[in-house]
Amino acid sequence: MRIPFIAGNWKMYTTASETESLIVSLKTLLADSDTADVLVCPPFPYLMLASKLLGGSRIGLGAQNMFWEGEGAFTGEVSPLMLKDAGCTHVILGHSERRQHFSETDSWIHKKIKKAMDVGLKPIVCVGETLSERESRRTERAVETQLKGCFADMTHDRITAVTIAYEPVWAIGTGVTATPEQAQEMHLFIRRWLYKTFGNDVANLVRLQYGGSVKPDNAKALLSQPDIDGALVGGASLKADSFAAIVKAVA
Ligand code: PEP
Repeated sequence: MRIPFIAGNWKMYTTASETESLIVSLKTLLADSDTADVLVCPPFPYLMLASKLLGGSRIGLGAQNMFWEGEGAFTGEVSPLMLKDAGCTHVILGHSERRQHFSETDSWIHKKIKKAMDVGLKPIVCVGETLSERESRRTERAVETQLKGCFADMTHDRITAVTIAYEPVWAIGTGVTATPEQAQEMHLFIRRWLYKTFGNDVANLVRLQYGGSVKPDNAKALLSQPDIDGALVGGASLKADSFAAIVKAVA
């Protein structure tokens, strides 16, 4: 059985005081909710504050990115050990905004996944096609290329700690959501790829999140699809009531 997993990607939003009020409200709104694993991913400067505020709650803490070295002369980068030190258990890797604006490649993401796992951080790895790839019927090929590039050489025991977020680029931050059928079709494709590559146990264990304009009013239909195990939520995770409503949409 895969426990549903809802993660909030706060992107480059919030201040310290907004971090505090968002977390305080989420703790209240989700106090009685235990049907899903819940994670928030604030910007780097607020991770330690968030970690303190989340103490004693069921809400976990993740980061939005990291570098693949443990330490060194890499000005401006953040190491996975620092994230662990700050209280993170998870890290989002390969988000399409990083691929698009910071030219991250699958081979970089592959190095980051390996390093995250070396230090015991669980990666949420994002894959997804662009609009032009979908329109030219290259969706599956694009996603398979990303999967192969990101998970090359990964051992079975390691891949089960990974969450894969299917995030069609055309649906991120646009208000356009994949239909539940479109999302399920791609989740099934990813699940079958896991089966072909790693076997039945891995395919059954790895959680697949959908991301792309998930909102309280579309969450239930998406999350009730058989291969959608959760959601990676951007914009709607910045409001405590909408994020809590998405968590509660889990059956
Ligand atoms: C995201 O940031 O991963 C995301 C899916 O954003 P949004 O929910 O705003 O589309």
